[in-house]
Amino acid sequence: MNRRFNFNAGPSALPLEVLDQAQSELISYQQFGMSVMEFSHRSKEYKAIHEGAVNLLRELLQIPDDYEVLFLQGGASLQFSMVPMNFLQDGQQGNYFITGSWSQKALKEAQKVGETFTGATGEHTNFSRIPTEEELTYSDNDAYVHITSNNTIHGTQWKEFPKKADKTFIADMSSDILSRSIPIEQFGLIYAGAQKNLGPAGVTVVILKKDLLKDTPENLPTMLDYRTHVEKSSLYNTPPSFSIYMLSLVLKWTKKYGGIQAIEEWNKQKANLLYHTIDASKGFYTGIADKDSRSSMNVTFILPEKQLEELFLKEAEEEGFVGLKGHRSIGGCRASIYNAVPLESVEALCDFMNTFHQKHNI
Ligand code: PMP
Repeated sequence: MNRRFNFNAGPSALPLEVLDQAQSELISYQQFGMSVMEFSHRSKEYKAIHEGAVNLLRELLQIPDDYEVLFLQGGASLQFSMVPMNFLQDGQQGNYFITGSWSQKALKEAQKVGETFTGATGEHTNFSRIPTEEELTYSDNDAYVHITSNNTIHGTQWKEFPKKADKTFIADMSSDILSRSIPIEQFGLIYAGAQKNLGPAGVTVVILKKDLLKDTPENLPTMLDYRTHVEKSSLYNTPPSFSIYMLSLVLKWTKKYGGIQAIEEWNKQKANLLYHTIDASKGFYTGIADKDSRSSMNVTFILPEKQLEELFLKEAEEEGFVGLKGHRSIGGCRASIYNAVPLESVEALCDFMNTFHQKHNI
């Protein structure tokens, strides 16, 4: 079998063990004589998968009882709209801390729904860092404060989450959920597309504080109303059952290898190794993000010349390293080292980077 070194930003690497198990159960799930894709979402077999995934996510992230866990569709992008539709009332403002392209997109959707306020923006630094506490501003009538915990494109990450009594924080954690422990109780709502740390595309996880729902408008389209999904335990309509099954396997894998604490430690090790390779190259590779804002999930860097960068990406591809081209909006290189990327892949990448540097030392 010829598996490549997968540094894709999303969809991205899945644990090999999970793929193996899914393969072994693809045609007949646990002697049931059918694939998960083939049986009813109302069956007791599916119910066990669905509830198992909810419970395991609760356990791994230590989600308090006054929070709901939902499995929705439409990606994190639909949450950009659902959040303001449900929580942004007349006379209030949705406060957005803009730390990159995804928060800009979230803001753009909120502007279509109601009034917004930009409480911080990193635009003047090309989103190379997370704003400091002093740079964050709030309005008197914030409906909520929205952050993007990890900026997949620029490679920055909030290390400490902003905190302010009487503010409801909402976080897009698409690209770092399950990679580190999170103080859930500091947030009113957390959402994440699954296709980085949680499983394949198709399911979006929403963790929602129940009392947030008391003021939601009555006239929302049924599918865009969080209450629908809370009342029906995410089974109002047909859920993406196979994606949720895959999510359940990824969660079991996470637990088997020590849960969040172990994963966080492991992620730190991988990120340190890669950033060390960048820093030790003395300017051959240059990190895009400021050091204290560096993401442990998406490592972004550039080479001294455009042509050299193209050669780097070409040779990397030939050696089996995929997904290293930076996002088209900012260029450069990016290695996404989500939970399922093995340490050995990162070590192999660092070796390749060092060899390439030696060959092309300028
Ligand atoms: N937010 C972040 C931080 C992302 O990285 C992405 C996708 N890469 C999105 C939102 C959009 O997610 P989706 O494609 O699931 O709508």
